[in-house]
Amino acid sequence: MLTIKDITAYLEWLAPPAYQESYDNAGLITGNAAAEVKGAICCLDATEEVLDEAIEKGCNLVIAHHPIVFRGLKKLTGRNYVERVVIKAIRHDIAIYAIHTNLDNVYFKGVNAKISEKLGLKNTRILSPKKELKKLSLLAGPTELEALRTAFFEAGAGSVNGFDRITYATLGVGTGGGAAFAQMKLEVVYPAARTAAILATLNRLAPEAPCEITSLENQSLEIGSGMIGELPKAMKEEDFLKNLKKVMQAGCVRHTRLRSKPVKTVALCGGSGSFLLPAAIAQGADLYITGDFKYHEFFDAEDHLVIADIGHFESEQFTIDLLCEIISEKFPTFAPLKTSVNTNPVLYL
Ligand SMILES: [Zn+2]
Repeated sequence: MLTIKDITAYLEWLAPPAYQESYDNAGLITGNAAAEVKGAICCLDATEEVLDEAIEKGCNLVIAHHPIVFRGLKKLTGRNYVERVVIKAIRHDIAIYAIHTNLDNVYFKGVNAKISEKLGLKNTRILSPKKELKKLSLLAGPTELEALRTAFFEAGAGSVNGFDRITYATLGVGTGGGAAFAQMKLEVVYPAARTAAILATLNRLAPEAPCEITSLENQSLEIGSGMIGELPKAMKEEDFLKNLKKVMQAGCVRHTRLRSKPVKTVALCGGSGSFLLPAAIAQGADLYITGDFKYHEFFDAEDHLVIADIGHFESEQFTIDLLCEIISEKFPTFAPLKTSVNTNPVLYL
């Protein structure tokens, strides 16, 4: 039996809830995590239409990028679409799960990795990395080392800054009871959000091992917002923008004036990304793609780069494909659906 928790636990393994921004409300919003998944449907917004589609297609799990509930609900009378969605979900026993800024903030299989893939960017890296790293050091006998290493990797350690399964071990001499013996000091780095899993592993395998956990000052290259990368070949600005409009299926691209310079380095952020403009400029992007730029914010480009606002929905729409790919890869016998409802509230004449 595949439960809602089986799916959400895997999603949270890839994009831990601890990576979400403070204003966010990612996670299970309605429903019972222990229930069996009869069918799942992926979308950007869990609107009433998407819930109707879920009911019609026999899905009891709606996986949305945006949390339908952001703030506390004090009444549930159905006076607005948020309340109506919650009421409908509860009435029909539908779980709504949101994977939002935590999915924005991961390098691997995140929202921005998907956009970069669509645009064919190479050498990508996080545009604004977070400081999220911890290091565990512990003393262990040489024979225990391999089992500890493997268990820590499984708990999410050792995979940092683009390298996989990394630990560091030094051989030392322990003394006690009049004897000297070989002892190893094992060091492993992990993202702070993995702390609970790391400590559980430690308590399971080596509850008495002397250990130390420290916070690192390094930035994590796997966690943070936005992405920057390079095109395989520089393109003319007009050509790039036309291709961008086509690939991202944008109804319109609002952009700042062109600089008559080729586009090679491209920064991007799915959703509302104007806050990352300074980072895009500082890192030498020729062009910055996102959504929700305001009039006055366009001035801030100051010819350092070209801002291309393709729309919030348009920038994130392939997150639906991404979610389906992630789930199908992990649960090959389970096929999640993509919503056929276009939930973009913005239309173009
Ligand atoms: Zn969004």
